[in-house]
Amino acid sequence: MSKGSINVSVENIFPLIKKFLYSDHEIFLRELISNATDATTKLKHLISIGEAKVEYGNPQIEIKIDKDNKTLHIKDQGLGMTAEEVEKYINQIAFSGAEEFLEKYKDSNNETGVIGHFGLGFYSAFMVADKVEIITKSYKDETAAHWTCDGSPEYTLEAHDKKERGTEIILHISEDEKDFLEDSKISGLLTKYNRFNQIPIKFGTKTETLPLPEDAAEDAKPETEEVDNIINNTTPAWTKKPADLESEDYKTFYRELYPMQFEEPLFHIHLNVDYPFNLTGILYFPRLTQNMDIQKDRIQLYQNQVFVTDNVEGIVPDFLQMLKGVIDSPDIPLNVSRSYLQADGAVKKISGYITKKVADKLSSLFKKDREDFEQKWNDIKVIIEYGMLSEEKFFDKAKKFALYPTVNDSFFTFDELVEKTKDAQTDKDGNHVILYAANKDAQHSYIEDAKAKGYEVLLLDTPIVPHLMQKLEMESGDAKIQFKRVDADHIDNLIKKDDTVISKLSEEEKEKLKPVIEGAVNNSSYTIQLEAMDSSSSPFLITVPEFMRRMKEMQATGGGMMGMGNMPEMYNLVVNTNHELVSDILNADESKQKQLISQAFDLAKLSQNLLHGEELTNFIKRSYDLIK
Ligand code: ADP
Ligand code: MG
Repeated sequence: MSKGSINVSVENIFPLIKKFLYSDHEIFLRELISNATDATTKLKHLISIGEAKVEYGNPQIEIKIDKDNKTLHIKDQGLGMTAEEVEKYINQIAFSGAEEFLEKYKDSNNETGVIGHFGLGFYSAFMVADKVEIITKSYKDETAAHWTCDGSPEYTLEAHDKKERGTEIILHISEDEKDFLEDSKISGLLTKYNRFNQIPIKFGTKTETLPLPEDAAEDAKPETEEVDNIINNTTPAWTKKPADLESEDYKTFYRELYPMQFEEPLFHIHLNVDYPFNLTGILYFPRLTQNMDIQKDRIQLYQNQVFVTDNVEGIVPDFLQMLKGVIDSPDIPLNVSRSYLQADGAVKKISGYITKKVADKLSSLFKKDREDFEQKWNDIKVIIEYGMLSEEKFFDKAKKFALYPTVNDSFFTFDELVEKTKDAQTDKDGNHVILYAANKDAQHSYIEDAKAKGYEVLLLDTPIVPHLMQKLEMESGDAKIQFKRVDADHIDNLIKKDDTVISKLSEEEKEKLKPVIEGAVNNSSYTIQLEAMDSSSSPFLITVPEFMRRMKEMQATGGGMMGMGNMPEMYNLVVNTNHELVSDILNADESKQKQLISQAFDLAKLSQNLLHGEELTNFIKRSYDLIK
């Protein structure tokens, strides 16, 4: 391996710009509009401090396509540059910017596409243009300057007769980039990057219909007028104070942001912080939807109202990536690589801040209107459960408002649930058992059994909830909380009853019965478990042991124990030895035994939704035989 530094002479820069920024070449427009915006806001500032003694007026940025001359024009009414300033800012500084780019490039991995995230400010114009002109007149009383450069390091700088203050950048669009001379292309880019730009951007004109005067004749035709087509909203909702916005304004902004989104958001969070970093924004909790197109609408990151990306990985914690909305921070550099973002301290703080704000908002919604919060729960639970698992700080807060709905549609917080069930629901080992179902239909008969005994049954159906149970159990300490799905065992085994049931069968009878059932069931996935239950309980019951099942589920959603994925399904067949049918089986002849066991076993399978195909056909046949 040899090491060294790449010596880049200025001649090499332009081909490199073209080559390496290729994938993201459209950002040139964003860069030039950002410069035009900066030039305008700088002027405003200079006027405000008395440094510039000119009229600010209503400055615009105009984008114009000249198809005949194959040029694209970006024209501002900002502070402009003197010839001297062009020398300084364009010729010297910007070139060093380009060198800096190469310096950065040398360490970065080409394959990650990182390069595409670097911008070169003004020089990114050369990604799409063979020749670039700057015509600029400073707000200072000096002759305008005209700079021309055809992509080689040579440039010309001469006087120009431009009279109005401001800068016009003229791009002579190169042959293979002529897309950028299409209205639709430019208008698409303006919408993508600049629809919330701080300074009005004019792109063409549009026809507007004027209102008819009050006294207009009945058949009067309204007059029309050609007006500037301003493509942006310069004061989007997130730049305003929360106190100045109604809840309707937030909804309107949501629609403005995602015009294809027809569902209203559930609620919003207005972010606003200026220390230790600057950040504003509005996040929305969307209604969950199956529509994948809508899920493509993501949180958008802006820097000073200029769109940067909708990949907010690292800036917004993972569990909040499903939210929608906007965040805007001048502290997040426009042109940075993802790996840089993830390592940046300020960015980490932003992520922590967003987590906290979201938790606080949820907490206040919960406290303010619990009923409303309960109604929204099913739409937000995935995000909250995910957050509780991935961010300890979020867990600590969410523990107080996360809800556990029951199959009867009551909602408990964890503390309420523990309080409500702690006396009535313990198992023989003294664990505090919390019963749950994952699917009301599939586990219907088990739920009914538990309800008949007066127990609370939760309905927990998100795929990550097993992980959350695991965490809650682990943290419960002396309270010894154990979550058990209603079909994890016979209900009387899950929760201890005071009265013990006397077995009708003797030990010898049981020993005789077991191999008979095993033989008839003849399935290694089933462990036969003889139990003396109430005679009213089902004779046969299929249960799925909690531990194994949960481990498998956890593995399917990430984490949990390794190597459980290929384990076969394991079931218990609980046989109630106190049931009349079981006595009948014991006393029947061999062929009758087989028939009764098969039938009872199939019925048990049926209630776990485990009877399919040939087994189901056989069951139906046998059932007809039995009733005929
Ligand atoms: P940056 O914007 O990061 O400073 P650029 O390469 O985009 O880098 O621009 C270099 C400099 O050129 C700017 O800092 C500014 O001083 C000057 N400049 C560029 N565009 C304009 C403009 N439209 N009006 C006035 N000055 C400009
Ligand atoms: Mg710039």
